[in-house]
Amino acid sequence: MFVIFLFTSGMAARTKLSYVASMGFWRTKTLAQMSRAEWESLCDGCGRCCLHKLRDDDTGEVEFTNVACRLLNTETARCRDYANRKSRVPDCVKLTPKRLEKVDWLPPSCAYRLLHEGKDLPPWHPLRSGRPETVVDSGASVAGRCIDERHAGPLEHHVTDWPGQMPKPRR
Ligand code: SF4
Repeated sequence: MFVIFLFTSGMAARTKLSYVASMGFWRTKTLAQMSRAEWESLCDGCGRCCLHKLRDDDTGEVEFTNVACRLLNTETARCRDYANRKSRVPDCVKLTPKRLEKVDWLPPSCAYRLLHEGKDLPPWHPLRSGRPETVVDSGASVAGRCIDERHAGPLEHHVTDWPGQMPKPRR
């Protein structure tokens, strides 16, 4: 097995969200047509893409773990240094419309994956709910249920299913 992971576009400021959300741009534009602000606003900040994954060399199958990139704040699911993430974590992959064609390991609830597959954003997405808290309420956020890679030990000990499944509300 070898390790793959990324965190992608997204966890940046959401300054123009209310404006772009009112237009429902994600329903009228393709991913490639979106402005930078629109593209960035698609990220719900769940942090699932910041969890390490394992890919089986023989089968190609991807397994999720609950081990987070060292830049992820495990309590808030936010990148601690989003602007410089690529220089600090060279493996970090910046997601683009073109890269979406090749990526096969985004979680099923990821907005980029959903739109790439021709689906709508879920009702709990901040662009629809108007509240970032709904990402936590929905069960999509990794906040409070992942482990910093610096403390986790072997990734094989942390394989888990939930990051690869649709979110379920936490009780
Ligand atoms: S999985 Fe998708 S929606 Fe969630 S943080 Fe990563 S890019 Fe954003």
